[in-house]
Amino acid sequence: MKILYSQRHLSHVPGYEIFNGEKDPHSEIPSRVENIKKSLIVNGFKISKLTKRVPLRLIEVVHDKNYIDFIKNWSVYSYPSVFPYNDLNKNKRLINPLARLGKYSFDLYTPMYKGIFEIALESSSLAYELATDIKTNQIKVGYALCRPPGHHAEKAKMGGYCYLNNTSIAAEHLSRDGKVAILDIDFHHGNGTQNIFYDRGDVLTVSIHADPNWKFPFFTGFSDEKGIGKGEGKNINYPLPKGTANDLYQKTLEKAVVKIKDFKPRYLIIAFGQDTHKDDPIGGFKLTTNYFKKMAKTINSLRLPALIVQEGGYNTKLLGDNVVAFLNGFS
Ligand SMILES: [Zn+2]
Repeated sequence: MKILYSQRHLSHVPGYEIFNGEKDPHSEIPSRVENIKKSLIVNGFKISKLTKRVPLRLIEVVHDKNYIDFIKNWSVYSYPSVFPYNDLNKNKRLINPLARLGKYSFDLYTPMYKGIFEIALESSSLAYELATDIKTNQIKVGYALCRPPGHHAEKAKMGGYCYLNNTSIAAEHLSRDGKVAILDIDFHHGNGTQNIFYDRGDVLTVSIHADPNWKFPFFTGFSDEKGIGKGEGKNINYPLPKGTANDLYQKTLEKAVVKIKDFKPRYLIIAFGQDTHKDDPIGGFKLTTNYFKKMAKTINSLRLPALIVQEGGYNTKLLGDNVVAFLNGFS
């Protein structure tokens, strides 16, 4: 197993998130990845440094060109104030920065500032390099310690602490060689990944997450979202209720694994969040650290070349233990 890390994320320190008009301490902090890294080292895992940079042309297939330019050229620390309020603006060239900020955001948890593009690009590069190693048969399993996370970033919208969709960029890269299955096991619905591959028949997206009627991102993640066109039937959502514990999660995961097996993918990508743990401050499931090992074993019964991409997880004290348990189950 190859584990990839870059210290570039240390300079990504969002000041706060805005909830109900209040400034709350930001949950997506550098110690998340640093604590995972520490636990990995203590438990004998080797950490490799990034050597490749994701090509811009690959990002431009996954994300809208204007959205990329918007992130690249933004210069001041900002949160959106106004969001699009009807469809008349769809094809208009919006010049006012406040309009552009609202157009390309969907929440107040994901601040913009000068330099965020380079940091997000580095995070995507971790997933990209491991995907390349898997494509070229150099490794069977890789774990990308991505930060900022990516699965909430849509084609042309940032949100949920995400700017570029690392999982989707790696999936696009791998899909050139064969079918890809994405299994999203973060606590929250991977709305961005769903949005990006919704009409694709060659990329299966399966997400197990908190019922959107209960938790973020609220607007997507329902079981009737099944894909369109060639992608019909290739998007599968398993929303789960508050308090979901190991047993119900395992039953659902087994169903998801059967769907992936039936799809016969060449590659598997796991969007891995640890906010499903019982002591996560943002989540609301009751999974235990021991269960993370069983979860990984169940997924690895597919015996596919697999890329594990770090997404959410906010109990910084326990993230490392949960990642170690998962990776031990995988090897
Ligand atoms: Zn999450």
